[in-house]
Amino acid sequence: MTRIGVLALQGDVREHEAALERLGVESVRVRRAAELDSVDGIIIPGGESSTIDKLLRAFDLFEPLQQRIAGGLPVLGTCAGMIMLATDIIGGIEGQRTLGAIDMTVRRNAFGRQVDSSEVELTWMPDGSSMHATFIRAPWVESWAEGVEVLAIDEAHGGAVVAVRQGNAIATSFHSEISDDDRVHALLIDLAR
Ligand code: GLN
Repeated sequence: MTRIGVLALQGDVREHEAALERLGVESVRVRRAAELDSVDGIIIPGGESSTIDKLLRAFDLFEPLQQRIAGGLPVLGTCAGMIMLATDIIGGIEGQRTLGAIDMTVRRNAFGRQVDSSEVELTWMPDGSSMHATFIRAPWVESWAEGVEVLAIDEAHGGAVVAVRQGNAIATSFHSEISDDDRVHALLIDLAR
């Protein structure tokens, strides 16, 4: 059976576990490097990216996680998780590090700090359908390298790029775990199988 880890240092772990359960896969909380060995994929939830960065280092997880992802472990990062997967950040705190799995620059709190949260209809690029999405102090993708596939665009915010994929790594600005639409998680599970 496919097992997906949910990084459980900080952030909305339970919502991701519920999405994985809806899709019929096993989930396991990851807080130690050894727990990475038993998973076929991993989710980095939303929360606060600078805190996740600090906790990854405090738990001696930063390098092991980075190495597993570089070695091909499928990964989905949502919101703060998207920031963790980027190579570069605009608006990060002093010394904030990322895992660098996707060749892109993300802008933290891109929709404005005053925009606490919003719900919009996105365009899901693989088939041009629409996708209902919730944003909470979200980043967007400011620039990206060739080889990064744009998965979703937010027409309501000037065509902002809000979901991408590069190889084994998927990142979304929005919280795909708090809607009934499980297409993003299903994509991760496809990669993990
Ligand atoms: N603004 C947060 C950050 O910079 C992300 C918010 C979220 O994950 N909901 O990390």
